[in-house]
Amino acid sequence: MTNTNCDVIKSKCIVCSVPVGSKLQYKCHLFDNHSTSNMEADLKVVFDKAEGKCSLCERDKMDLEVFSKHLMLDHDKVLDYMAPGVKEHVLSNFESSQANESR
Ligand SMILES: [Zn+2]
Ligand SMILES: [Zn+2]
Repeated sequence: MTNTNCDVIKSKCIVCSVPVGSKLQYKCHLFDNHSTSNMEADLKVVFDKAEGKCSLCERDKMDLEVFSKHLMLDHDKVLDYMAPGVKEHVLSNFESSQANESR
């Protein structure tokens, strides 16, 4: 099991050691695999209140699924729901490439 030469894989999930290649990939992975019921409940409340409109940017008319992903991934909210240390791990691994990611 020596797979350390693969430079595409930049990091591994701190929770389950699945390889993640980018910050976005990491966030998607956390959202899909390590989301909490707490997070889903919060999202529903925020979504109902905001009526599908993002309070952090100009995006509007989203359904719950799009809204959830937008808030969690585009605005990094998913990291606030993770166990202590996960957010720091994501940021310290991918901080420098942040500027290239947003299009
Ligand atoms: Zn994981
Ligand atoms: Zn937004």
